Amino acid sequence: TARNPGESEFHQAVDEVFESLGPVVARYPDLLDSAIVERICEPERQIIFRVPWTDDKGRVHINRGFRVEFNSALGPYKGGLRFHPSVYLGIVKFLGFEQIFKNALTGMPIGGGKGGSDFDPSGRSDAEIMRFCQSFMTELYRHIGEYTDVPAGDIGVGGREIGYLFGQYKRITNRYESGVLTGKGLSWGGSLVRTEATGYGAVMFAEEMLKTRGQDLEGRDVIVSGSGNVAIYAIERAQALGAKALTASDSSGYVVDTEGIDLELLKQIKEVERGRISEYAERRGPSARFVSDGSVWDVPGSVALPCATQNELNGRQAKRLLENGVVAVAEGANMPCTTEAVHLFQESDVLFAPGKAANAGGVATSALEMQQNASRDSWSFDYTQQRLQEIMRGIHDRCASTAEEFGMPGNYVAGANISGFIKVARAMVAQGII
Ligand code: NDP
Repeated sequence: TARNPGESEFHQAVDEVFESLGPVVARYPDLLDSAIVERICEPERQIIFRVPWTDDKGRVHINRGFRVEFNSALGPYKGGLRFHPSVYLGIVKFLGFEQIFKNALTGMPIGGGKGGSDFDPSGRSDAEIMRFCQSFMTELYRHIGEYTDVPAGDIGVGGREIGYLFGQYKRITNRYESGVLTGKGLSWGGSLVRTEATGYGAVMFAEEMLKTRGQDLEGRDVIVSGSGNVAIYAIERAQALGAKALTASDSSGYVVDTEGIDLELLKQIKEVERGRISEYAERRGPSARFVSDGSVWDVPGSVALPCATQNELNGRQAKRLLENGVVAVAEGANMPCTTEAVHLFQESDVLFAPGKAANAGGVATSALEMQQNASRDSWSFDYTQQRLQEIMRGIHDRCASTAEEFGMPGNYVAGANISGFIKVARAMVAQGII
């Protein structure tokens, strides 16, 4: 804390991993000798830069850009860029730290990194977004590359932004380096299933957890928060498996739809029109209502998928979900549940999947995009989705068997942290004190 003052989200993420590591250092004392724990908490490189841009009225704005290259033991730094006014170094470090273990869990050769800016894209025109992205890349380009650091999207950064970023990278470097960014458009190096991957993957993970108790998603009421990339495709996948997704939200409130979310309407409002979730209720008819106060977690359902942002589900809300009979929670977002909420779920024997396991499908499919770029190939939707399904099953099984091996059966948090940590730590030891 003294070394990284004020970075509360980063402290929370580190504490959560360290809570699991007692049995690991007891079993492998050599990891302590080479100061792995201290080294893993210190990013290899942190870049902070000025991003000047001009709005449509000619006014000049200055934002702050970040890229934290956290750990390259397993491969080039890999992780998304977030554009949101709440972004500061502590957020980028928490996300980058999580990313190290998540990427290790996927089994793919990728290190951990994250970046972004405190830029607020809401209400900005296309031209303003483009100018911002171009200015951001004008500094970032010198730090990234197929073999160095491969950014992708996150909150506020989707296909449109990746396009502008890629265009500027290509222009500055005079290289068509497809593997420098992931989340690209399908006609210029993107991968099928990348858009769907995080949401689909979170539901696949929930399915695997339910399977361990002889259960599935069919006929269940599912409570989803968020209405961005992750939430939309979590809803799509849950509904394909026979569940009813009842809710979606954004920072202004949530909608409940007793007939289940109409996905076409949600996509039209959020992906095409970039509108607000309240418009969904206005256009959907009597089955839906918009609620601007209270919390989406008040709505009863047996599966909860928090897919919006960090610390969006606290202890009080976890209690409410438990009273309403929740049996499984899978984090589509990064660290959406507070530490208190996680402990409450675990004490109540709820199946709980931490984000670094449940939402790893996105980065795993980004690694599949890198494979396709490296071999100048593009795979079919079915094949890529099958690879994603195998990867999610693999992550689930790795978390479950590691938790069991270390005497904590059913504890996916411990399983994910221990399994990811051991893999990275072993590689760091092998590569010497660097
Ligand atoms: P999007 O920008 O597409 O959507 C984010 C959604 O969350 C929006 O509905 C947004 O509402 C809401 N939201 C964001 N911040 C807040 C806030 N402070 N309070 C309330 N609501 C908020 O992002 P993604 O769907 O890509 O990301 C969602 C989460 O999933 C993040 O935690 C991200 O790190 C994580 N994730 C994403 C991956 C991906 O592949 N995209 C991969 C792995 C994890 P509003 O529009 O009102 O801000």
